[in-house]
Amino acid sequence: MADTSTECKQAPGLFGPVVNFGKCEAKGDCVRVCPESVFEVRRIDDADFQPLGFLNKLKIRVHGMKVAYTPNIDACLACGLCVAACPEKAITLSRRQ
Ligand code: SF4
Ligand code: SF4
Repeated sequence: MADTSTECKQAPGLFGPVVNFGKCEAKGDCVRVCPESVFEVRRIDDADFQPLGFLNKLKIRVHGMKVAYTPNIDACLACGLCVAACPEKAITLSRRQ
């Protein structure tokens, strides 16, 4: 019998979430919903913070200098749960290879 549990998913690593740091409010809905533990909310790196515009920098300061990173992106199955859960529409799924 065919395994239907993974029929809507992609091979791990083919797609991955890209977080728009200017929109992210760091409350971690993505961390909670991702079945593959792709996300981590942590302090934004200087290299990611500096290129942002004034208003986005201000917003990130208000949110404690934190954003969502994707340290386990290679495990992403492209299920889309994080995209649906993000209240700021900050996540897009992008093909990686
Ligand atoms: S759900 Fe969206 S806004 Fe919230 S931490 Fe994740 S990426 Fe940021
Ligand atoms: S698409 Fe699914 S597996 Fe990939 S990061 Fe989002 S919730 Fe996790």
